[in-house]
Amino acid sequence: MALLLRNATLPDGRTGHDLLCEGGRIVALGPQLAAPPQAEVIDAQGGLLSPPFVDAHFHMDATLSYGLPRVNESGTLLEGIALWGELKPTLQQEAIVERALQYCDWAVAKGLLAIRSHVDVCDPRLLAVEALLHVKQRVKPYLDLQLVAFPQDGVLRAKGALENLKRALQMGVDVVGGIPHFERTMADGAESVRLLCELAAERGLPVDMHCDESDDPLSRHIETLAFHTQRLGLQGRVTGSHLTSMHSMDNYYVSKLIPLMAEAQVNAVANPLINITLQGRHDSYPKRRGMTRVPELMAAGVTVGFGHDCVMDPWYSLGTGDMLEVAQMGLHVGQMTSQAQMRACFDAVTVNSAKILGLQGYGLAPGCRADFVLLQARSPVEALRLRAARLIVVRGGEVVARSPAATAALQLPGRPGSVDWTLRR
Ligand SMILES: [Zn+2]
Repeated sequence: MALLLRNATLPDGRTGHDLLCEGGRIVALGPQLAAPPQAEVIDAQGGLLSPPFVDAHFHMDATLSYGLPRVNESGTLLEGIALWGELKPTLQQEAIVERALQYCDWAVAKGLLAIRSHVDVCDPRLLAVEALLHVKQRVKPYLDLQLVAFPQDGVLRAKGALENLKRALQMGVDVVGGIPHFERTMADGAESVRLLCELAAERGLPVDMHCDESDDPLSRHIETLAFHTQRLGLQGRVTGSHLTSMHSMDNYYVSKLIPLMAEAQVNAVANPLINITLQGRHDSYPKRRGMTRVPELMAAGVTVGFGHDCVMDPWYSLGTGDMLEVAQMGLHVGQMTSQAQMRACFDAVTVNSAKILGLQGYGLAPGCRADFVLLQARSPVEALRLRAARLIVVRGGEVVARSPAATAALQLPGRPGSVDWTLRR
């Protein structure tokens, strides 16, 4: 059945637009479209119509495991990794599937319809890989789940990790991952980047590495990643995730590094909620923020996406799958307060991340997939400010989630009982 959305505002500011969907695709976008017979018609009342949120970096094998088997007391990345190591041997496949499916429900309710998730391949049983491949199929009707083969304990440092990673790729995992800063030495880290990029080049796969996730100003793995991207002709297919050391690097060195990344078309993913809580833990005062140099990377033409990274797991005790929360934190930590920069933060959880994932048919133009979210806001900046309600979420031309509009019930004499306070000017 056709779906016609009337009177929406678009992210670029155009107002009074209708969107018509048929056969799972957007077929028309413009003012005052004619409704086909029997079309379902929804009045957007001037609300913001956006393509769905996209999470460029997540860990779905660990999500919703907070407190298992205990809580991360120090709050550091390294205790998180150790804690995950304790949890791993006790993981049950059904429990991973159940938690992942639950998270995907939360995600859809928040208009988050595409997630790139890393999956740890260091457990030789590859339980989590099997579980998430299963989840990927289960959620396909309503959510795109892309998987990255992630050697959490180091592809060289952990025994058998390279073989396990290759097996995971054989089983259908989509992207080659890595963690060079966790290898035993800087040289091993560089070697891991070389061999993983070559593996990806041989197999025609994208690369997405946890890269320089530390406060070490001398960590240089992103430089190596850009070098091998260029050498192997992988431009546009490689992503450096986290890049937190760049926050602490010498400014002169960064003035050389960022153009090298732009030249190699390496994408960058920052994880604002996690970076601001995990980095700077060895500092007294002042404490470093730790997020990578988002505005500078964007200004150089690097595609920058934001990821949620963690929700209720050994590394992070909070989170709801709300990419507006992620973008809002990115905006604050990066001090991206101009109108253009706030807009760029909205792009980092929509179009930029879609580009990083290589999503086909993403967007609001005719011919694109009929996937979108209607927000209770008039602009992307207002959506960020309000963390706006997702009034409806549409996948393939069908409504898959609805949330009530935010209202305030006023009990004052002479005032109506309930007013829509967020949309009132
Ligand atoms: Zn991560």
